[in-house]
Amino acid sequence: MRIHHLNCATLCPIGGRLVSGSGGLTSRTRMVCHCLLIETARGLVLVDSGLGLRDVETPAHTIGREFAFLMNAKLDPAETALHQVRALGYSPDEVRNIVLTHLDLDHAGGIADFPKAKVHLHAVEREAALQRKTRLERQRYKSEHWAHGPDWAVYQAGGERWFGFECVRDLSGLPPEILLIPLFGHTRGHSGIAVDTGKGWLLHAGDAYFYHGELDPDRRRCPPLIDVFQRIMEIDGRARVRNQERLRDLARENSGEVRIFSAHDPVEYDRFAEKESSAEAGVYAAK
Ligand SMILES: [Zn+2]
Repeated sequence: MRIHHLNCATLCPIGGRLVSGSGGLTSRTRMVCHCLLIETARGLVLVDSGLGLRDVETPAHTIGREFAFLMNAKLDPAETALHQVRALGYSPDEVRNIVLTHLDLDHAGGIADFPKAKVHLHAVEREAALQRKTRLERQRYKSEHWAHGPDWAVYQAGGERWFGFECVRDLSGLPPEILLIPLFGHTRGHSGIAVDTGKGWLLHAGDAYFYHGELDPDRRRCPPLIDVFQRIMEIDGRARVRNQERLRDLARENSGEVRIFSAHDPVEYDRFAEKESSAEAGVYAAK
């Protein structure tokens, strides 16, 4: 199984160290939308999808001008999963499955670019996005992203646990190495996606946390604006905080077996992307 780490949208909100932990208060920061493209024997699997082509070309019609403005989104078509899949030499039709941490606009925008793909997620999350009960949910979920009527596959957790976490195994039509791990709190059905790489596990923790320092077992830290932001965006604060504690424990106790990353932290993303490009350089050097 080959795994590519993709950044499927760059966001550059102002705020310096209040957002990123360093820099002047009026300086722009950098956030990513960290997605995975997994080459499997059953086709390509995308984990999270970032912003889609329509989002970057006509944001007012989908994600809204406010989001694009406040987050100072780069809106570059070349960053969409669609363009990056093509740049890797694949046809978009080869992306047969998309597994989502949740349906927030910056995670689900790309699903519209792969209308033939099956979209996997927690049942509670799809329900929340279709119902959009609260004001916050009406802002965060954009029905334009699923106007094409995706082939949904929804799940409830059950069965054998994963490192003590409830999980969903054997996602429909996917290899057994890909699991859904409920991490509720940020949204009602928010989940992480665990992938057995054959050389240890990767856990895409979505928006369960936003800053790499949150998982530091010795000195947990989070820049103040990011902390405010995660509180504003939470649907269940107690569950969110509890799940962050559990992720911290997982990181502390199983660091050799599980590598965890969140959706928007550029430090974590760069670590993986650099490793991937140096591994590729190694492949080319060996040829
Ligand atoms: Zn997000």
